[in-house]
Amino acid sequence: MTRTLPTIVHLDADAFFVSCELALKPELRGTKCAVGGRERGIISSASYEARARGVYTPMPTKLALKVCPDLIMLPHTSGLYSKVSRQMFDICETLTPVVQRNSIDEGYLDLAPCGFKSAAEIERHARAVQQRIWDELQITASFGAAANKLVAAIASKANKPKGFTVVPPGSEAAYLAPLKISVLPGVGKKTEAALGERGVKLVGDVIGRSEAELKSLFGRSWEDVLRMARGEDDREVHTVHEDAKSYSTQETFGVDIGDFAEIERIAKRMIDELMPAIRADGKRTKTMTVKVRYPGMEDSSSGRSLGEATDLEAPFYPLVPLLLKAAWTKRRPLRLVSVRFTSVEEKGSQLEMFAQTDEKKRRLAAVLDKLNDRGKKDVVRHGHQLKAE
Ligand SMILES: [Mg+2]
Repeated sequence: MTRTLPTIVHLDADAFFVSCELALKPELRGTKCAVGGRERGIISSASYEARARGVYTPMPTKLALKVCPDLIMLPHTSGLYSKVSRQMFDICETLTPVVQRNSIDEGYLDLAPCGFKSAAEIERHARAVQQRIWDELQITASFGAAANKLVAAIASKANKPKGFTVVPPGSEAAYLAPLKISVLPGVGKKTEAALGERGVKLVGDVIGRSEAELKSLFGRSWEDVLRMARGEDDREVHTVHEDAKSYSTQETFGVDIGDFAEIERIAKRMIDELMPAIRADGKRTKTMTVKVRYPGMEDSSSGRSLGEATDLEAPFYPLVPLLLKAAWTKRRPLRLVSVRFTSVEEKGSQLEMFAQTDEKKRRLAAVLDKLNDRGKKDVVRHGHQLKAE
């Protein structure tokens, strides 16, 4: 679909984890602060004041405190960021039903279904959402609006924080031309340096070269790079529909994680999050899939089924390390992990197959669910909660 209006909006929360903390501790606004681990930890989000003093993510906390000795370190608050993230996207859904939650703090909106007639009208409504996010959540997000996802995403990063950038359809190539080549997805620090040595520093430097030159610069992906440099992209915004046949959750990390034990703990915690919902719906499940994502959006997943469906956490725990080993084959840290349960069936269909011991465990689990609901996660279910960093 060729769009004649900038109906695709990308929003990206500014210094998200820190913003969430500052919403709770407004007295720290304007200070040099960061969220991260204190002992042997890394900075996962830094305030703009701290960034101005040379603190960046990911940076070892030790080093951050050296370059900025009066840096205020804030520990991760378990559960806070995913809650604020949900609220932020819920606000977006008051504008359009087509919202793609891409990660905890960024996503795409397709405003085509809203029937807006001009770029000005689109901007007015999108700015109203940006304002509501601030009014209701006291966090800021930067917005980019364009005719496609690629350009909208680049535009949202152009004027952080509190940015709002519209790229009129037809001017994509001209907009991108003066930007650094590293704004294109997949061009990391190393690639940027290598390209720079060969005279490609800006996106515009890609345009106007011969096919042979482009092939020698970018190899097999030269056509993709050329398309990106022209600002062309035809990916649609995909709403992630609540699929009744599956239950899933995912977490995007502020800092890539390479520690197997930590990823295993996070995946088990996801089982603990999902299974109460499955029980509450009167369902049970048989198949678990673990997906991992490397930086650069490269995914890999692995799934396995139990002999029979269950609505208990424990039978799935032993699968976690097996699935992780199968999916996480590259020796690289991960950006995201997700757990999905499929082969979901109504409870009661195989009730007779349950052993007495399972029945007891299920009753205990039901009690814990109630306590958790009441005490807002005060009850630690199985000890898979994230390390309190
Ligand atoms: Mg962000």
